[in-house]
Amino acid sequence: MTFATLGLIEPLLRALEALGYQTPTPVQAQAIPAVLAGRDLMAAAQTGTGKTAGFAVPLLQLLTMEGPKVTANSVRALILCPTRELAEQVHASVAQYAEHLPLTTYAVYGGVSINPQMMKLRKGVDVLVATPGRLIDLFRQNALKLNQLQTLVLDEADRMLDLGFSEELANIYRMLPKKRQTLLFSATFSDDIRLLAGQMLIDPLSIEVSPRNVAANTVKQWVVPVDKKRKAELFVHLMRKGKWKQVLVFAKTRNGVDAMVDKLQGLGINADGIHGDKPQATRQRALDRFKASEVQILVATDVAARGLDIEDLPMVVNFDLPIVAEDYIHRIGRTGRAGNTGEAISLVCADEVNMLSAIEMLTRQTLTRKMEQDFEPEHRVPDTDASGQVVKKPKKPKKPKTSGGGGKRNLGKWVESGEVAAEPSIKPVRKVPVFNTGPRKKK
Ligand code: AMP
Repeated sequence: MTFATLGLIEPLLRALEALGYQTPTPVQAQAIPAVLAGRDLMAAAQTGTGKTAGFAVPLLQLLTMEGPKVTANSVRALILCPTRELAEQVHASVAQYAEHLPLTTYAVYGGVSINPQMMKLRKGVDVLVATPGRLIDLFRQNALKLNQLQTLVLDEADRMLDLGFSEELANIYRMLPKKRQTLLFSATFSDDIRLLAGQMLIDPLSIEVSPRNVAANTVKQWVVPVDKKRKAELFVHLMRKGKWKQVLVFAKTRNGVDAMVDKLQGLGINADGIHGDKPQATRQRALDRFKASEVQILVATDVAARGLDIEDLPMVVNFDLPIVAEDYIHRIGRTGRAGNTGEAISLVCADEVNMLSAIEMLTRQTLTRKMEQDFEPEHRVPDTDASGQVVKKPKKPKKPKTSGGGGKRNLGKWVESGEVAAEPSIKPVRKVPVFNTGPRKKK
């Protein structure tokens, strides 16, 4: 199958060819004809599957072939994204695909001044990529009208709900024209997503391109057990030993990112960090420098790293495991993209065993553990497997108390190891739930 056989017009084929896209990915093969046919879409596809072109390319074709010219302050297609980084990323892709088309594209998001965005919208924009909060601000300030809207895309819808945007989405829903095409993309389909889809979509075509852990297939993953306090030391050791060139490192908190960057910079390592407390311009600069290989190590929180797309990123390190198991898939999806292979290493301490178990259950695999010499943890990480069980070794048998004796003298009866072995030597302790329990606070 080629893009031409999917019925795409020549200017789009030329743009895709220039980008080196030769064959449609599975999500593109299914989504492109459906969108061209005007269908609503509900697609289970995660980052790395080529989903952006899956919705953007046919959408651009429809805008070129059908509908009136955009009028002042209007938009004809709206792509909603959970974060600024993803909005920038999606917009960059859309602009590339639209290079030879007579269409205008633009991205709006919070954290930067609204005035230039209002100015830009005055003439109208064919494709607007937006985060929900800023879109509502612009609408309320009459800088934006949605009556010309033909197509709405909800990109990473699960993530928008996770980040607490359900109210914003409900507000946006009320602002939309009834007659429109709606495309919903989500890595997962929780009850909340299905509810949203039920409201927003009409007779949608469901597309599930692959099992959720597809990104895992091209990514070699393993775990290095280590004590929490020695993680930074282990990271530097592994980095030097493996001569890592470019690494994206995930830390759980903003403070964690800052501490790691300070530590690495203190050792003369070229590192930078991105997290939600940093101004948008600083985050973008750090990303650009990392993409241009001017920064060797980029440390990021999950939210800040959304939408980060770097060709051939060879390595992702989970300095901390994510609290939401699904974030693991998003994280490792930063490497092994578009058919390349990558490596994802997780430094895991005993405290994180339940998160490890949830990840293994979600990805239906038991991650290989590799102990690093001289870094063997004092606090053992209990065994885990894909069934979601955390397996704890039985405690060592205690020396029974003896009357009269005590101290170090061996007067009582020792429990022989053979007697203990009569019991199961490893015992499943409890079932660990997947960590995606509900909406989280906006970061
Ligand atoms: P996405 O899942 O949309 O974030 O895309 C992941 C990566 O795959 C991006 O770097 C795209 O440029 C790339 N990509 C998307 N579609 C294709 C294709 N058909 N052939 C090669 N690369 C692609």
